[in-house]
Amino acid sequence: MPFLAPESGGRPGTEPGSVDYRFARRQLLHRVRSGELTQADVCDAQHELLRVGRNCAQRARHDCPVCGEHELRLARFVFGPRMPAGGRVVASRSELLKLAARTSGPGLRCYTVEVCLSCRWNHLLDITPVGGRAGDA
Ligand SMILES: [Zn+2]
Repeated sequence: MPFLAPESGGRPGTEPGSVDYRFARRQLLHRVRSGELTQADVCDAQHELLRVGRNCAQRARHDCPVCGEHELRLARFVFGPRMPAGGRVVASRSELLKLAARTSGPGLRCYTVEVCLSCRWNHLLDITPVGGRAGDA
C-alpha cells in the first residue's frame, strides 16, 4: 500500500522495535505551511484508506493538521505471518491487544496511519511490533 511507504525514513520509537514517523510528518507539514508544497500534494488518501478511516478507525484526539477539521482518524493495519497481503485492519487498540494475545511468536507489526476524512491528508505515524509486550502496546 503506497501510504505505508513514506518518503522519509523513520526514527526509533519509544517501544523496542518500533519506528516513529512523526518527525517526517512534522517536516512534511512544515513544507506545506511554508508554501513549498500545496495541500493537493499531501492530501491524497486513496479510496481504500478513506474507507477504513470512515468505518474501522478511531477518532484522533486532535484536529487535522492541514484543514483543521475534526475529521482525523487513526487507521491501524497489521502485517506479518498469516495476515492478508494488504494488512489486517484493526478498529481499536483493544482489538489489537486481542490479536496480539491470540498470536504467538514475533513478526506481526502494526502500522498506524492518520487520515483526514475531510481533506484526505494522510501520514504514517508509527510501526510497532504486535504481541510479546501486549500490556503496553
Ligand atoms: Zn483535513
